Amino acid sequence: MRGGPGPHDVPVTRRSEVVQIDPTDPPPEPIRRAAAVLRAGGLVAFPTETVYGLGADGLNEGAVEKIFQAKGRPGDNPLILHIAELSELAPLILGEPNAAAKALMAAHWPGPLTMIFPKSALVPDRATAGLPTVAIRMPSHPVARELIRLAGTPIAAPSANRSGRPSPTTAADVLEDMDGRIPLILDGGQCEVGLESTVVDLTGGVPRVLRPGFVTAAEIKSAAGGSEIDPAVLAPLSEGEAPRSPGMKYRHYAPMGEVTAFRGPGAVGEIARRYDQADNALILALEENVPRYGNRCVLSLGRDESAMASTLFRALREADRLKAEHIFCECVEPEGVGLAVMNRLLRAAAFNVIDT
Ligand code: AMP
Ligand code: MG
Repeated sequence: MRGGPGPHDVPVTRRSEVVQIDPTDPPPEPIRRAAAVLRAGGLVAFPTETVYGLGADGLNEGAVEKIFQAKGRPGDNPLILHIAELSELAPLILGEPNAAAKALMAAHWPGPLTMIFPKSALVPDRATAGLPTVAIRMPSHPVARELIRLAGTPIAAPSANRSGRPSPTTAADVLEDMDGRIPLILDGGQCEVGLESTVVDLTGGVPRVLRPGFVTAAEIKSAAGGSEIDPAVLAPLSEGEAPRSPGMKYRHYAPMGEVTAFRGPGAVGEIARRYDQADNALILALEENVPRYGNRCVLSLGRDESAMASTLFRALREADRLKAEHIFCECVEPEGVGLAVMNRLLRAAAFNVIDT
């Protein structure tokens, strides 16, 4: 079963505490408490503008190890370090950021963009899964920023889901996967972007998008003078091919039900036809198409690819709550934010795509 117990399972013994926080005017006390947990080597889930993160002190090898255990995350999938101020970058990387990196920081930090640099000796090998590079992001969410500031250390934080599951965009999603595995969840409401950050590699000549996100390849090109998109973004890796970003090789973002994606002009008709032949099916559709499915069970993904970015993971988790066994999902054009949506959808569907 997907999302089931893995080899690194820790016993589920106690429930996690969930503390609600107004994200626009975060009160200091709960964030201070969360920072103390982090400084003591513990784990805290917290909201960011992308998805909820599962944080640990990124410079404490033992704390970082707890992230892998709580998530059941494969040890060769590196973590992103989160900083609150530009001055926190230099100790983590080797040498100076190049001109493209500086331009991208000026244009997109704080924000949903992760950059990859050569790593310094300060960063534990466990955090980068033994790679000579480190991924760094400066989030814009006020709770995330205050937490990093009060912890006084870069926070390693992957998405706060069990490995392979859809990323969490609410505290309820985090609780669903992590209850009893971590002591504290800061609940700042719904995440705005709803998809993980764009990951761009700056260690080569041209900035290379390894994982698309809300910051698009075109925006990277306009800030940095160039960008290329790793071919693995929309394609499964072929057998024996080495991924440039280790996260690329795992099936990801998958609900319990089987996801099928439908592309092309005949998508609505083909989805309706298959729905009628299946038991416990659910349709995920763009808002304008919802009426065309009549009284079939449909969740709206919103009006366009940006709306779909913020609703896709929510819809996939809702599909599980509805115990859907077959999830039939419409596609969007893989352009702009649509590239990020399709990158996640294709992996949730394990590249099970029907062209119509
Ligand atoms: P997550 O933390 O679950 O959002 O995933 C982090 C993503 O960043 C994964 O896809 C990683 O493979 C990628 N990543 C982190 N560090 C590096 C690195 N040093 N080089 C390439 N990709 C990285
Ligand atoms: Mg993740």
